[in-house]
Amino acid sequence: MTSTPTLQDVFAAAQNPLSAADQKFLTEVFSFAENAHRGQKRKSGEAYITHCLHVAKILAEIGMDQKTLAAGLLHDVPEDTEITLVEIEKKFGAEVAYLVDGITKLGKIKLRGSQEEYFLENLRKMFLAMAQDIRVVIIKLADRLHNMRTLEALPPEKRERIARETIEIYASIANRLGIGEIKGELEDLCFHYLDPIHYTETKKIEEAYLHEGKEYMSRVVKLFRDVLEREKITTLDVSGRTKHLFRLYKKLKRHDMDITRIYDLIAIRIIVPEIADCYEALGIIHREYRPMVGRIKDYISLPKPNGYQSLHTTVFGPEGRILEIQIRTQKMHDEAEYGIAAHWMYTERERPSWRNIFFRRKSSSSFTPPKELTWVKQLKEWQKEIGRDDKEFMEGLKIEFFKNHIFAFTPKGDIIELPEEATPIDFAYAIHSEIGNRATGAKADGKMVPLDYKVENGQVIEILATKERKKPSRDWLSFVKTSSAKSHIKRELRHNEFKIKE
Ligand code: MN
Repeated sequence: MTSTPTLQDVFAAAQNPLSAADQKFLTEVFSFAENAHRGQKRKSGEAYITHCLHVAKILAEIGMDQKTLAAGLLHDVPEDTEITLVEIEKKFGAEVAYLVDGITKLGKIKLRGSQEEYFLENLRKMFLAMAQDIRVVIIKLADRLHNMRTLEALPPEKRERIARETIEIYASIANRLGIGEIKGELEDLCFHYLDPIHYTETKKIEEAYLHEGKEYMSRVVKLFRDVLEREKITTLDVSGRTKHLFRLYKKLKRHDMDITRIYDLIAIRIIVPEIADCYEALGIIHREYRPMVGRIKDYISLPKPNGYQSLHTTVFGPEGRILEIQIRTQKMHDEAEYGIAAHWMYTERERPSWRNIFFRRKSSSSFTPPKELTWVKQLKEWQKEIGRDDKEFMEGLKIEFFKNHIFAFTPKGDIIELPEEATPIDFAYAIHSEIGNRATGAKADGKMVPLDYKVENGQVIEILATKERKKPSRDWLSFVKTSSAKSHIKRELRHNEFKIKE
């Protein structure tokens, strides 16, 4: 954690192998970033570039592409050095510059006003960034993860604020994107700073139990591998897993801090090649060890809202101990660990669980197909699916935000935020008052709609406008929802009347 990675370490960490050309490109980016940050130090006293290398390494570990790694290396350059975005674009292209710009924009958010307002504002920007390019959000998560790992260097009052912000926003977004690895680590780091007493207590309980549990686990891993291989099931991996501390604490709290009542503290994870193998392996395990009633979960047929897929069962295992077993394919496993980031590992292959969740802008100039603009709809669907029985999950997502807001897109992919029930006229004035004044018609997702149409989340709205000067219609005042549209219309009407009198 404290050791300084080199660029070679970043390459070695890449889940998604980097070609020689990628490495050459990243080497150039690195020396550029290193020069830019020369002389700057982190609060810990380390050279600033160390932070950038750590961020790039985290991104490499979760399988991000070379452009994202480049943006990770450069992410603090425009903010903290003399070098501008224009220079970055000239040297490394529009896509990298676009990603860096997105991160810089997210970084502008500072604590102000009440916490609630700040969280909302922050979350809004996160979501906006997400809509424009999910990679911006992933880089921001990596940035925050490294900052959390080195939080000790900051004064105590800052630590608390950052930890709170991290658990409320960043960890929940990592969860929403299904990046279990980052979510778990962020939560544990926050737990340590926000609740040190319970953190220490949980750690002690865990250590006492695991000391002996680990040996059991390795015996079981061997046993399971043998049983499955005897039945001609190829296992790619059988391994034991222990819970993250914060998750463990939450469970302990529900069970009077009695660790013997938690069955999934030790889970055996079985990775097999095909989906059919998952079910076959489950059958074999159940034949050997009696399953516990009501603990068999088929998340392959019914994935969790964040896309998680796996078979879960709890059995009365070897040596009379109860343990949880998770069975999945390699691809499901990668998606569970890296979530939406796993997309980059499977770009060429089919990826049903992540299809259509987000759209990805390849460069600032490319057109975004409307079909992929469905992440907002997806969020709403998840909200419906989750329903009332998972309050914690809902709380984490702070999805209520969407109740009063909708996002619509211009044909170029820019996002316009509107209140619920807003109309194409509100949309037009939100872009520019002249577009509002000259509006004659509107299309929603390519289809003509009336001007008092209620815009839906995620729709692409195109405003048809005349070239000539035109005044808005008085009727519009009866249906527009935004005060800005109202005042523009009134002002324009008054202005026109005045001119006629002249
Ligand atoms: Mn940073």
